[in-house]
Amino acid sequence: MKCDKCGRKAVIFQRHANRHLCKRHFIEDFERRVRITVRKYKMIEKGDRIAIALSGGKDSVTLAFVLKKLYSKIRDLEFVAITIDEGIEGYRPPTVEIAKKITKELDIEHYIVSFKEYFGMTLDEMVKIGKRKPCTYCGVFRKYLLNKTARELEATKLATGHNLDDETQTILLNFLQADIARLARLIPQRVQEGLVMRIKPLREIYEKEVVVYGLLHDLPMTFDECPYSYFPVRAAVRDFLYEFENKYPGRKFSVLRSFESLIPCLKQMYPQIKLNKCKRCGEPTPKDICQACVLLEELKSQNSSV
Ligand code: SF4
Ligand code: ZN
Repeated sequence: MKCDKCGRKAVIFQRHANRHLCKRHFIEDFERRVRITVRKYKMIEKGDRIAIALSGGKDSVTLAFVLKKLYSKIRDLEFVAITIDEGIEGYRPPTVEIAKKITKELDIEHYIVSFKEYFGMTLDEMVKIGKRKPCTYCGVFRKYLLNKTARELEATKLATGHNLDDETQTILLNFLQADIARLARLIPQRVQEGLVMRIKPLREIYEKEVVVYGLLHDLPMTFDECPYSYFPVRAAVRDFLYEFENKYPGRKFSVLRSFESLIPCLKQMYPQIKLNKCKRCGEPTPKDICQACVLLEELKSQNSSV
């Protein structure tokens, strides 16, 4: 197949745009769309210190690479990377190594924070002691450490590697589960005291494109899945969206645009509440005690009763 722009050998077929692109034109298109997304929500501005949440998986590695490539020439802009090591045997160590490698190559300051050091237990140990699902511990503690570390590093934004597939799955999932409060949390650029603003520069890029862009740049990539990964409903939504997109290309963008149209209503329905400081640890929370402290307390009592 040939590139629809220049006739060279195509490396990708973009179903949503009904065109084949060669390496050069695909990379150009990818980077142009990242720039547009970043500009649309003012994700990156002069004076920012951007913390990249770098798990070492394909999305975050591509994110680190493309941000450094597109924005490193801007004065007064800095990048740092944070890797959270949850302590998942066999799965996390190789991605931590990838994160170290890529930050070294890109010359980005890199901080690794582990559950074991901070909470005294790895995720594997929590799972053995506790009664909750692994992803509950993982999600709460990871978000907690990412935000705390980013804030302590004086980051102005926290960039994550969520792509278009992730975003549309989450939007649809929230609708299907009638969890509109959670849907409102996806509104970009929400400012809340104590929480470092999240940005998702790849939110308009298909997952397949992230992979192709990474491979074309020889970025270290792993496709291993976490051994605890068990999301039957999300998997069903993912498969449905995949089929639907295949039949009717571009519908993932429609899902995103529909959500964007609802943002003004969502903001009215869920005006931002002022967060409290957790009475135990001082981190931001809508309650008195943050969820991380609640889970930690629970784990300690379960551990002592073993
Ligand atoms: Fe954590 Fe694995 Fe669950 Fe992802 S799938 S939230 S890495 S436990
Ligand atoms: Zn707390």
